Amino acid sequence: MGAVGQLIANLDVEDTGRALHQQIRDLYPLCRSITGEGLRETLRWIQRSIPLEVREVATGTQVLDWTVPREWSIRDAYIADAAGNRVVDFKRHNLHVVNYSAPISARMSLDELRPHLYTLPDRPGWIPYRTSYYDESWGFCLSHNQLLALPDGEYDVCIDSTLADGHLSYGEYVIAGESAEEILVSTHVCHPSLANDNLSGTVVATRLAELLSRDRHRYTFRFLFIPGTIGSITWLALNKPLLGNIRHGLVLAGAGDAGPLSYKRSRRGNAGIDRAVEHVLRQRGNEYLIRDFEPYGYDERQYCSPGFNLPVGNVSRTPFGQYPEYHTSADDPDFVKADALADSLAFCLEILHVLESNGRHFNLMPEGEPQLGRRGLYGPIGGATEARTFQMAMLWALNLSDGSHSLLDIAERAGMPFGVIYDAAEALTEHGLLKPLPPDQDA
Ligand code: ZN
Repeated sequence: MGAVGQLIANLDVEDTGRALHQQIRDLYPLCRSITGEGLRETLRWIQRSIPLEVREVATGTQVLDWTVPREWSIRDAYIADAAGNRVVDFKRHNLHVVNYSAPISARMSLDELRPHLYTLPDRPGWIPYRTSYYDESWGFCLSHNQLLALPDGEYDVCIDSTLADGHLSYGEYVIAGESAEEILVSTHVCHPSLANDNLSGTVVATRLAELLSRDRHRYTFRFLFIPGTIGSITWLALNKPLLGNIRHGLVLAGAGDAGPLSYKRSRRGNAGIDRAVEHVLRQRGNEYLIRDFEPYGYDERQYCSPGFNLPVGNVSRTPFGQYPEYHTSADDPDFVKADALADSLAFCLEILHVLESNGRHFNLMPEGEPQLGRRGLYGPIGGATEARTFQMAMLWALNLSDGSHSLLDIAERAGMPFGVIYDAAEALTEHGLLKPLPPDQDA
């Protein structure tokens, strides 16, 4: 069934979901950003599972139209009332400080403070997530209820942060395959305490890489764990000679909420990755959503910018920004579900199985149907229904293996899952009825 097919067959969905969910709980407290120690600590955590190379790119480096920013360090941040009580405290929740805030230490009235406070009046119990990466400023995020409870008066405002020359860190892991052609999997790792947006992609991509590293595959796999936007721009700027090798790519993000799976097509719209993902979604039999490319969203925006136009789509569950918890304190570990995490992982494996195992075959006995029963090919697996399905898959694979149809073409035409057609073609090949043709680019 192929190495990836074997991973799918062996996946213990319940155990895996539980483990991934626990990993999200472990990573959740770290205060990540697009640079700095929280990001590095997250990359070190990933290194416990896979030999991730951590790259450091110096502040000031020109990357495409951007410049690698100064590194942000945060030690403490609070607003304290006249009695010294911390009424807003970064140590209670790291979303309380606007990410990338410049340092400040001052006493001011509530009215002076107000322009620096961000709340969600429609969701008065939640803390919003705000950033100021490319515009030096400072601020606090708090629940609207907290704001309403603040009496007028003087407050001590402290953000103990540093913005200084340093580095932008990202992680890269390459699993060399038989071919130099690559499948890219990219996920962002720059959000502080947010579970679905960020951590779900981090843990699913880490597990995916760890599983794939156990075998040798046709494609070379490249995993990127990068800060959003500036990370993909930096990687693209520094790796232009490699880009021609990328045959397929996925940006993985928002993989743990309870919503159905969704896929945003690459800018090309009809790339091999688009066909493979759409086939898997249709065949899974669950609710799903397919969206056309738009130049907004996650890092596919950069991979699919017109100068690169890479065949990279985006796998998520509920699309980014389309759930109220998005970019708020309600995107916490309870918002992500163990079964959704495991399902997203299985989905990625199913996509990769198509990409890895797709190919064309040649029917060596094309005149009339070969006698399958004589070769023990009837009912080789499972019960009667499975045997019947397998038989149909063999008939389709025999009939359409004329050298011009790929297994994915056959699966689509037959309306059957790719894995069943692949297994049928493998059995027919073992019995000398099909001959695989060498892989080609668009098979
Ligand atoms: Zn986000």
